Amino acid sequence: MNNFIPDIYVKNIFSIDYKKLKQDGIKCILFDLDNTIAPISENKPSKDVKELFSYIDDLNIKTIILSNSKKNRVAPFKEQLNIDSACLAMKPLKRKYKKVLKMFGYEFSEVAAIGDQILTDVFGANRCGITSIFVDKLSDEEKFKTKINRKFEKIILNNLKKKGIYEFEKYYGN
Ligand SMILES: [Mg+2]
Repeated sequence: MNNFIPDIYVKNIFSIDYKKLKQDGIKCILFDLDNTIAPISENKPSKDVKELFSYIDDLNIKTIILSNSKKNRVAPFKEQLNIDSACLAMKPLKRKYKKVLKMFGYEFSEVAAIGDQILTDVFGANRCGITSIFVDKLSDEEKFKTKINRKFEKIILNNLKKKGIYEFEKYYGN
C-alpha cells in the first residue's frame, strides 16, 4: 500500500514549492500532461502554465512531460513549452522512467514526478524511488481508461483513509 502514498499532495502544479524541491536536491521534474498540465479538452498550454515552466527553468530544474497519451496529444505542449517529452509512457511501468532518465543523465533520487492519478503517476514514481507529487485533477472530463483507474483509486484512497494514513483533499506540501 505504501507505494500508493504520495510524498507530497497539493492542489495543483502552481501550489508546489519548486525552490524547496531544488534545495532538496531535485534536478528534474517529470510532468504528467492530461488533467495535470491541462484539461483533456485543451490542446495547448495556458499562459499561466507557460509562465510556470519558465520560472522552473530559471531555477535550473529540467522539466520533461511523461505522458501515457499519444504523440499528437503531447506534441503541441512539448513545442510551446519548449521542453522534452516522452509519450506512450505506460505508467506505472518502470521502463519509460528508466529510459528517459538514463537518456538525460539523472538518478531517481534527483527526480520528482507530478501527476493527478494515484494508479499511474504516484505508483509509477514510488516504484522507482522518485519523489511523488500528487495533484487534484483539473477537470472531471476524463478518458474511459482513466475512469476505470479512478474506481480502483477510490478503493485505495478509502482504504488509506480508514487506516488514518492519508486523506484525500487534506493537502501536505513540501
Ligand atoms: Mg493525468
